[in-house]
Amino acid sequence: MPLVPPHGREKILKPLMLEGEALRQERVRAKTLKRVVMTTRETSDLLMLGMGAFTPLTGFMTSADWKSVCDDYRTSDRTFWPVPITLSATPEAASSVKQGEDVALEDEETHEIIGTMTIAEKYGIDKKHECVQVFRTLDPEHPGVKKVMEQGNVNLGGPVRVISESYYPEMFRGVYMRPAESRAMFEKMGWSRVAALQLRNPMHRSHEYLAKIAIEVCDGLFIHQLVGKLKPGDIPADVRVRAVNMLVELYFAKNTAVQGGYPMEMRYAGPREALLHAVFRQNFGCSDMIIGRDHAGVGNYYGPFDAQRIFDEIPPDAIGIRPMKIDWTWFCRKCRGMSSARTCPDSHKDSRLMLSGTVVRKTLSEGGELDPDFSRPEVLAILKQYYKELDASANVEVKLHDAATGNTIKQ
Ligand SMILES: [Zn+2]
Repeated sequence: MPLVPPHGREKILKPLMLEGEALRQERVRAKTLKRVVMTTRETSDLLMLGMGAFTPLTGFMTSADWKSVCDDYRTSDRTFWPVPITLSATPEAASSVKQGEDVALEDEETHEIIGTMTIAEKYGIDKKHECVQVFRTLDPEHPGVKKVMEQGNVNLGGPVRVISESYYPEMFRGVYMRPAESRAMFEKMGWSRVAALQLRNPMHRSHEYLAKIAIEVCDGLFIHQLVGKLKPGDIPADVRVRAVNMLVELYFAKNTAVQGGYPMEMRYAGPREALLHAVFRQNFGCSDMIIGRDHAGVGNYYGPFDAQRIFDEIPPDAIGIRPMKIDWTWFCRKCRGMSSARTCPDSHKDSRLMLSGTVVRKTLSEGGELDPDFSRPEVLAILKQYYKELDASANVEVKLHDAATGNTIKQ
């Protein structure tokens, strides 16, 4: 059995990262072009386009694509796509460039040129409409809404060429993996049915349980770490990667799990983002995608199973990857093992080991102990070491941040 084909009508990967002589020439040319500054979200989307994860998109969306994706989950050529992938500019920046002109795309933080774009269209959008459609809210406290409302008022659409992938070099070490590479690896392993596990936090036993449910019924598991921009207080990718490697080595059967990292920034769009996660996992070669409780959600904006339900609301032929819907999981002292809301009776309510991310971070940063039934001791040791070094190097109190909002949590 072959792997699931890439998303889109043509069923071939379309990485937009240039190579060889074309890359060398474009890097020289980019220096001569006017620059358009990208937000970190836009940079991360450009990197996803570069690696082929956003196949079959060819660049930042035009107004017809934007509208059609917001209202109908499809680009203007009817390709299924759940979230707008757009580039914004301030009116001043937009007026300095012409339609048809090639521009260099520069990241707002590093000022590095990541790619070039031919401006096919300059257009304004109804930001509120995008937020209501994509995030189901206009609340400015929602991190995804905030980002859209703060972006420049003009969108620039057009095809892109990517000329650098060095944006997060320290995070990418040993884990950055392009869709062509993950596909080659799955084929080498002899896998055809592969499940993706989305991960942006350290892997505790509840994630391990999800992973192993998938391994029981698939050929293999792709542990897919987000290495894009994080909120203050989150665990850096290299620490999470080390912890996962340790866990896989000690607690997983050989050749059942592969880890990879991808550069996207979270939007916290809940159900719509779950669909986006599925679409690009299909490009990485995954046939199944684990969708747990409140996937890609934040706060209380989405119902706990909205991100699972949305897969039943799209046309069956929209995507080639299936959701693996799993309920909330935990270690239960009465079950004496891992269980979930589907398998553990309500009468065990008080015997379930459930800790919020905030409590976990606070305990570890204070050097406290966590129950080994919550997280494997070898994983906890890596996380504790990280907090210890962080504390020593900063010589300040470790502040707790809410991972979703970036706000400091009052103690
Ligand atoms: Zn139980």
